[in-house]
Amino acid sequence: MIQAPKGTFDVLPPDAERRSILEAQARKVLGAAGYKRIETPVFESTELFARGVGEATDIVQKEMYTFDDDGGRSLTLRPEGTAPVCRAYIEHGMHKLSQPVKFWYLESFFRTEQPQKGRYRQFWQVGAEAIGTDAPEADAELIVLLAELLEAMVVRGVHLRLSSLGSPETRLEYRERLTAYLHDHEDQLAPEVRSRIDLNPLRAFDSSHPGTRSVMAGAPKLLDQLSPEDEEHFGRVRELLDGADVRYEIDPTLVRGIDYYTRTLFEFTSDALGAQSAVGGGGRYDRLIEQIGGPPTPGCGWATGVERILLSGAQAPTAPDPVDLFIALQVHETSSATDAFVLSREARRAGLAAQFELAGRSLKGQLKQADRVGARFVAILNASGKATLRDMSSGEQTEVTLSAVIPAVLRGSRFT
Ligand code: AMP
Repeated sequence: MIQAPKGTFDVLPPDAERRSILEAQARKVLGAAGYKRIETPVFESTELFARGVGEATDIVQKEMYTFDDDGGRSLTLRPEGTAPVCRAYIEHGMHKLSQPVKFWYLESFFRTEQPQKGRYRQFWQVGAEAIGTDAPEADAELIVLLAELLEAMVVRGVHLRLSSLGSPETRLEYRERLTAYLHDHEDQLAPEVRSRIDLNPLRAFDSSHPGTRSVMAGAPKLLDQLSPEDEEHFGRVRELLDGADVRYEIDPTLVRGIDYYTRTLFEFTSDALGAQSAVGGGGRYDRLIEQIGGPPTPGCGWATGVERILLSGAQAPTAPDPVDLFIALQVHETSSATDAFVLSREARRAGLAAQFELAGRSLKGQLKQADRVGARFVAILNASGKATLRDMSSGEQTEVTLSAVIPAVLRGSRFT
């Protein structure tokens, strides 16, 4: 039996329904704040991600689906959405539009990760980007919008962690200071931390080893070394969130697996998820557009995982699509089937949801089917070109001409 590839999944109709609800909520929440939908290609030139996401990141090093096209160009299935949106911004000269340009997207992404609950090789994200502004108000608004979307989707046990990375220069200086500090305290560190001091000093903050933990309690913090401008920017973001009653925790050790972030960085987690507790996150990327060949342009954005939202959200019951009219056949013959086909098309043109019998069931079977799909009216077409119209809620029925079916359903429908 041929199965879906490892780490992928089919979206069957009940789940598709829940995903449409998320899409509608994203459109509502983000549309109301002036964000417009964008779609970009499923694959991009590999260089975009190497330069944008960062050559040394796990995503670029280990997780990309990369292949050559027939012209020998290296292409990659998009592992994230920000670099492609920025590429589109540059390519279409959108810096000439009034700024900021605000986008949202709902697309699938590809990473060769080890699959587990909430972690797939093809997954979907809703994302939002505000490009062309460095105002801290944009950062705060984006955070508030993601909080609103998670709330609208009834995601449980949500926590927000917030930090600021400052500029790449500050980060480099900080890294050197931290490395020196760790070397000074090498004898108290866990062996695996000690061996990675020069490779990744920040990882030392994640260690549960008691000696390492006590060393890290006194370690220099990036947040204490921000430049006055970066500190002011971060202070303003926090002030706006406080004013909006958004609860957050400052986490100076927050890291995300992408190189392009500057200044604000944030992540939402949900207690309702297991090991993969991150439900969405993002930050500011003031150097990214320049890095991939555009004019210096600040930006800020986030992405949230569709599957994680649905896993951590309360299972809101979804109402089935309404069916106004089910057209049944008294006898299965070509002329009745044609009448049913024509009548259902006319009913839909009149704004009704209409289906007709396609499976050759007995009349009893057709009425059962009408009931199963929740039809409000059933028109049973008979051989003499008339129909018996039955109101499924009251059980009342009358004989009418075919042309009277649609007006009668409209009169009795929610549209009148
Ligand atoms: P990231 O771009 O890695 O920060 O991802 C943003 C959000 O997308 C995360 O918070 C997750 O909700 C979701 N996500 C990331 N990677 C995966 C994956 N492999 N499978 C499912 N969801 C993912």
